[in-house]
Amino acid sequence: AAKGAGRNRFSYFTPALQVAALNRMRLTNDLRSAIKGEQLKLYFQPIVHLGTGAIHKAEALLRWEHPQRGLVSPLEFIPLAESSGLIVDIGQWVFDESLRWVRRWRQDIHPEFQVSLNQSPVEFQREGGTYDVWLRALRQLGVPGQAIVVEITEGLLLDASAMVTDKLLQLRDAGIQVALDDFGTGYSSLSYLNKFDIDYLKIDRSFTRNLAPDSSDMALSEAIIVMAHKLGLSVIAEGVETAEQRDLLAAAGCDYGQGYLFARPMPVEAFDALLQSHVAPAED
Ligand code: C2E
Ligand code: MG
Ligand code: MG
Ligand code: MG
Repeated sequence: AAKGAGRNRFSYFTPALQVAALNRMRLTNDLRSAIKGEQLKLYFQPIVHLGTGAIHKAEALLRWEHPQRGLVSPLEFIPLAESSGLIVDIGQWVFDESLRWVRRWRQDIHPEFQVSLNQSPVEFQREGGTYDVWLRALRQLGVPGQAIVVEITEGLLLDASAMVTDKLLQLRDAGIQVALDDFGTGYSSLSYLNKFDIDYLKIDRSFTRNLAPDSSDMALSEAIIVMAHKLGLSVIAEGVETAEQRDLLAAAGCDYGQGYLFARPMPVEAFDALLQSHVAPAED
């Protein structure tokens, strides 16, 4: 009977949709074994202070090295992880790995080194999920919450439920900081910058891309930076690819830049090596 129902269900799909659905199912199964088989890798991309060039922050970006397909983008597998519930284990793994590394970098590189983690809306809002496990891990390793920044997107704050507000407070109580990711792509309502306690605003790379003197994106970026500073937030520009973009952002008072100009996301071992060599000259 189950088999018949299955056939029935699939008869509503066109062949192309069937292939896509099957593909998703296979990939979800592969993801399940990827977690056990250590195919998930954490990459890091430096976040550079535009005034000094110092690297005291980095964003953790997840990679899946699929044995047959090669690198699978998080844009492709995070949605599968969400719909299958695997996101919980994956998010915990990202946190544990990041914590281990940021602890080392706070000892070796800079006492206030921070690692930024992405939390998708589904992940952030999942029912019953709390950050107790994180807080325990922080305590166990003796790392203050300030070592971690959680990146969330605007959509989450737009219709912020009591649960969202509550979780943000939980993070803040632990000293964990919050960044608003991809700013400018959503509704970009400025009111919630005031309403919620947010530390960083990340200007989306669609703005950075079009930066030119006297362009409208330049005017907009300048306004965002001034406003963010007035509200006590620091600004990180995403997708900085050229020296001109970096210089325009620095002149506009932007605090930090992140992008291919400085470095692409890289395996954690390579990033660690970069950090160790990067700070060495400043030590003497
Ligand atoms: P995001 O958080 O906005 O991350 C920035 C994305 O921009 C990354 O894509 C990064 O590789 C890319 N990028 C950085 N600099 C440049 C540049 O100069 N030019 C261009 N064209 N791109 C640049 P990536 O690594 O493919 O990640 C895509 C998205 O997947 C992330 O966007 C984030 O939303 C999500 N993601 C990544 N890792 C995780 C994770 O551990 N958990 C969750 N929930 N989501 C994740
Ligand atoms: Mg991000
Ligand atoms: Mg972003
Ligand atoms: Mg983005």
